[in-house]
Amino acid sequence: MADDLEPQGSLSNPPFAEGPLKELKCCSRCVLRLCGERNISLYQNIEMEEDVKDQICVACLGILAKTQESVFVHKIQSTVQNAGHQFENFTFAISVPLPVLLRQHSISLFLQENYSSTFDKKKLDEIPSIKEVFKWVYGPIIEKLFQVNYKPLSPFKISLVFVNKDGGKELEFLEPSKSRTRQKGKRQRVELTSPEGILTRSAVKKALAEITTVHQLKRLAECPPKSLNSPSILSEVMCSHESIFIAGRYNKFSRVLCQTPWIIDNVRHCESSVEEKICNQIRKGILADEHKFASAGREDVDVRMLGNGRPFLVELINPRITRFCESFFTDVQHEINSSTTDISVRDLQQVTKDECLVLKDAETNKTKTYKALIWTEKQVTDEHVQILNDIKDLMISQKTPLRVLHRRPLAVRERCIYHMTVAEQIDSNHFNLLLKTQAGTYIKEFVHGDFGRTKPNLGHLLNSETDILQLDVESVDVDWPPRKEENSDRLGKCT
Ligand SMILES: [Zn+2]
Repeated sequence: MADDLEPQGSLSNPPFAEGPLKELKCCSRCVLRLCGERNISLYQNIEMEEDVKDQICVACLGILAKTQESVFVHKIQSTVQNAGHQFENFTFAISVPLPVLLRQHSISLFLQENYSSTFDKKKLDEIPSIKEVFKWVYGPIIEKLFQVNYKPLSPFKISLVFVNKDGGKELEFLEPSKSRTRQKGKRQRVELTSPEGILTRSAVKKALAEITTVHQLKRLAECPPKSLNSPSILSEVMCSHESIFIAGRYNKFSRVLCQTPWIIDNVRHCESSVEEKICNQIRKGILADEHKFASAGREDVDVRMLGNGRPFLVELINPRITRFCESFFTDVQHEINSSTTDISVRDLQQVTKDECLVLKDAETNKTKTYKALIWTEKQVTDEHVQILNDIKDLMISQKTPLRVLHRRPLAVRERCIYHMTVAEQIDSNHFNLLLKTQAGTYIKEFVHGDFGRTKPNLGHLLNSETDILQLDVESVDVDWPPRKEENSDRLGKCT
């Protein structure tokens, strides 16, 4: 059992405190609760007969009723089973009906005023909440059913929503229209509703905090509260697992493959994409609701990504599979690589959320190396080659290129070309140029000038019209994710 479900010692109250609570029609667990009891086993070991049959507790509206226990457990168990998550521990997120807040406040004020010797304010502020008691009771039951521990910060969350169909009217006095007439002329201090017009939890809490006496409350609501006709029901159980993150590096060998799905006005422009070729295979193995793909920069559809590849990251939202054996990532990587000749991936691995930040930095802080096939109108001379080879740390200024202006704001940015090398002269008007640049440099525009929007450009430097015929990214100098040794990963098969 997890630490926080251990008994925390009893603050047992004298028995006379129970009387008024039972009279108010509180269930056995709420009686313990309102007496400030923190001995968890007392809550767990309530006998069915201790709760009066068919009487709905005025405090919890049936959420803690012993009689409901098997119904709630069954619903939680079947939902968790059907959702199909792998999990090592779990936590609860519990949403109680709003009237419960009002009732808690109402009982609190009533007891303070009528039984002040037993129920002083300080003590009432320290009573265990309905949510807390629910976790004490149901935590161990679910622990036993699934053989896992309850853990407050577990990545696997079972969300429970309780509703009460009869409780809605009780909070009507808090609705803005009514509160406005009530406090005529006064500025409304509490924003009671969300933009959708739904009474919000924090607003109810704020409003209740301003009601400090039974007298005040009685003008607006019952004090003490009366029982309702129908109990709260567990209307929704939802399971979710925190995202997991998979990183790697990819090569792209195709000049007709875009990086992400390319859809304009509902028309698809590329049959597939790097993203889909990678993510479809990963999702087959991990079964997630959705994914998000990110990378250290991107290349155009007609640009190849060579060398050691480009770092990428896939966030898998609400994954079902969360435990991976040694060979899992090697196997997925193998499946991706054998399914296509357009791309390949390496260093596929799970990373933590914190480690993903490296990728964001890489967008602007790192260097990249390119190989460009250049055409020049004038013949290329040795002198030209020398000029280019001698250039170091050339600052250029680039207006947002015309070709991306539809999706990026108009701006001017400075980028550095660290150096260039004429790698290979193909004929008098064609050569391959290697460029090492700051990340984010628009290479195509540097070569052809983009109608003077990039200054200086290669045409300026060679005093000739120039164009770019082919471009490859040779390296993205980001040392992330960590390299994985090839072949070391064939150690074990998933069982
Ligand atoms: Zn109760």
